[in-house]
Amino acid sequence: MFEFLAKSIMQDGHENNFSITERWLAQHALEPRPVVEFIQKQNIDNDWDVLINGDPYSLFGETDDRLSWMPLEKAELSELIEYLEYEVNQKGCKHDYGLARQWLKKRGKDSSLVLAASMAKGGGCDCEIFYNIELDSIYPVKSKSALQDVLLKKKNKKKDYKTHSFNSLRITVGIEQTK
Ligand SMILES: [Zn+2]
Repeated sequence: MFEFLAKSIMQDGHENNFSITERWLAQHALEPRPVVEFIQKQNIDNDWDVLINGDPYSLFGETDDRLSWMPLEKAELSELIEYLEYEVNQKGCKHDYGLARQWLKKRGKDSSLVLAASMAKGGGCDCEIFYNIELDSIYPVKSKSALQDVLLKKKNKKKDYKTHSFNSLRITVGIEQTK
């Protein structure tokens, strides 16, 4: 259901309700009401909110190989982040996912799922992906104390997302300096 929701929202946008969630439930002959009630109990108000705050890891906890939702494997994501950092520093960020989409398409990845997961982590455009997405908050680390550090860091970081305009400024300043 979550993947269906991610794809629909990334492709067609969303309204301020649970219509996409309900559409999926109807397609699978499930009663929407108890599911929507469960979601609302988690303080989630609409389809968009499900995408950002209601992924299965947020609702049901982490698994052995993920602390939070991300369709890419660790090596793939770190490659994408390196690619974006390099490209954005060369070309700047257009405040869209142009570069990320290109990369994902070349690898045959489902870009709407990956980008929806990125968005939920504060990666709202190409530059924000490498700026805001932390591998350590997605993929578990072996030692337990290290894991606690990561979770603590994640908690403290939560509201501290850098925004695109900030990054543009940073990039502009970087260019100035090289002149
Ligand atoms: Zn950007």
